[in-house]
Amino acid sequence: MDRRTFVGLSAATLLCAPTLVRAQRRRHVTIIGAGSAGLMAAYHLTQAGVDVLVLEAAADWGGRIKRLTGFSDVPLDLGAEWIHDDPGVLGRILGKGDTDLGVKTINYQPQTYQFWDQGRLRNFDALRHTYREVKFYDTTWYGFFESFVLPSVGSKIRYNAQITRIETQGTEVSIRLNNGVSVTTDQVIVTVPLSVLQKGHISFSQDLRPRNLSDIQDITFGGGFKAFLKFKERFYPDMLYDGPRSGFLEDTWSEKLYFDAAFRKPTQDNILGLFTVSEDPLRRTTLGDQALLADILTELTGIFGPVVTRSFQHGVVQNWSQSPHIMGAYSMTNDSARDIPDILAPVAGKLFFAGEALGQADRSTVHGAAFSARSAADQILMP
Ligand SMILES: Cc1cc2nc3c(=O)[nH]c(=O)nc-3n(C[C@H](O)[C@H](O)[C@H](O)COP(=O)(O)OP(=O)(O)OC[C@H]3O[C@@H](n4cnc5c(N)ncnc54)[C@H](O)[C@@H]3O)c2cc1C
Repeated sequence: MDRRTFVGLSAATLLCAPTLVRAQRRRHVTIIGAGSAGLMAAYHLTQAGVDVLVLEAAADWGGRIKRLTGFSDVPLDLGAEWIHDDPGVLGRILGKGDTDLGVKTINYQPQTYQFWDQGRLRNFDALRHTYREVKFYDTTWYGFFESFVLPSVGSKIRYNAQITRIETQGTEVSIRLNNGVSVTTDQVIVTVPLSVLQKGHISFSQDLRPRNLSDIQDITFGGGFKAFLKFKERFYPDMLYDGPRSGFLEDTWSEKLYFDAAFRKPTQDNILGLFTVSEDPLRRTTLGDQALLADILTELTGIFGPVVTRSFQHGVVQNWSQSPHIMGAYSMTNDSARDIPDILAPVAGKLFFAGEALGQADRSTVHGAAFSARSAADQILMP
């Protein structure tokens, strides 16, 4: 069977046939993971005419970008939501510079702030002058990738394809799936979350194993979740911070923010979002979704009173710490921390890494993951 035939196989065939799939002798790159980094690596390599296959453990693409539809009349982001850069970054992700892609964004500058501090609700709207970010108007990160990236790479993704081992096989690389199927390829880009590598869910033959791989245990991969709650009334500010206002201004990886998820979006719905990430273990991420939602409602009732239960319609939770192929939120490391690009440097010109943890100054973001993928693709394309 040649590689083209293999690429054309259905996911079902891939998952059922316990055979070694051999490839023709032409350059082929396999990408592990179909999150932002995996998709962008596939996008850039495809544009350069390279034969690409993307193997994704989950049943959908996106990884930590995930869309919630049917909850409100606007789609919501269950994972990444903010564009932590200027809107021009959308074009730059695609390698098109600051081109206007026609994607509507909003200037996300909350106007009303409250702090829940020592049992008291305090206002501090002065922050309206200091905090400013960008968000999508009527789409999501998932919608962005769906419009601009998926058309050229969607057919190259195989789902429910969880990789367990990467090893050398002659001059090629063999990638083993959890059902016993192996795929051979010339080069591999691994874009799985750091947590997957930390837990050793993918093993490497000695010659491909990054020399200092065990050092990734020193990097914090924090936990976290998001929740959206729909209410009949809007009783909350644009942003509510749990803790003293000095905490909001602190530069820390751990964050817990309630926010008006409908802010400047084209909807009349009252949607309160909750974003929680932490470097330390979180009690809430150990709860089941219903218990977590109940816990949030109890907390909100303690802050705002009976209006919460009176007005609550429904809610949804995305617990990233319990998501089987993600197992957390994102890497949380400062400049002084160990150099991740050094630990996950290319091995033998065959194995490359990309993903948010390798986003350097933009790490822990979607665009950082995308830029790391561009860098891995460029290294592969180097003559
Ligand atoms: C709660 C939360 C809020 C966030 N908010 C923002 C935000 O507002 N703005 C922002 O820019 N960023 C945000 N981020 C970070 C952003 O989501 C990530 O940085 C980015 O999406 C990571 O992309 P990635 O491709 O590196 O990894 P992922 O998206 O995790 O993709 C990796 C893929 O690998 C797959 N995989 C895992 N193991 C295997 C295996 N063994 N075999 C095959 N496939 C495998 C996974 O299923 C996954 O699809 C947020 C993240 C979280 C969790």
